Amino acid sequence: MPPRFLPVARGFYVTSPFAARWGTFHWGQDFGRDGGSGGHPIYAAQGGRVTMAGPASGFGQWICIDHPTADGSGLTVYGHILPEVRVGERVEAGQRIGRINPDSNTNGGVAPHLHFEVHKAVWSPPGPDRLDPGPWLQGASWPGEAPPPPPAPAAPPRDIWRLIHEQVIGLLR
Ligand SMILES: [Zn+2]
Repeated sequence: MPPRFLPVARGFYVTSPFAARWGTFHWGQDFGRDGGSGGHPIYAAQGGRVTMAGPASGFGQWICIDHPTADGSGLTVYGHILPEVRVGERVEAGQRIGRINPDSNTNGGVAPHLHFEVHKAVWSPPGPDRLDPGPWLQGASWPGEAPPPPPAPAAPPRDIWRLIHEQVIGLLR
């Protein structure tokens, strides 16, 4: 499994899930933190290539990252942010790519936060090709924190020849 990271640092939590909201459907997951989110860094959830970075309708500015199959596939969207990467740039999973825009005028007057979306393959209009980021992020690492180590290899057998030797000596006694 390629590495997958949360798009925000430890201390953030989900402020609005992928669900019906305000008489419509919220096609992403919002992240915020106590004490305010403006200016806090955001991170690439998987490795890939930046396909959008700049102004976008409804987002102020956004970033889209396309993830090749080897990086976990899909496309992720980061809204209400200030990009620190450019279109065409390769980014790695967990790499800082921007910061949350502290200007709440760029997101309809709501407190600064990250709006995060997961699209199944390429950028998709609202519909079934937009995935719920909740389960998609299950088991993801916090940025800057090492992913859990792989299971330790099985311990080598304890000096098997010594054990056999002792067994043989025992039989001979
Ligand atoms: Zn949102």
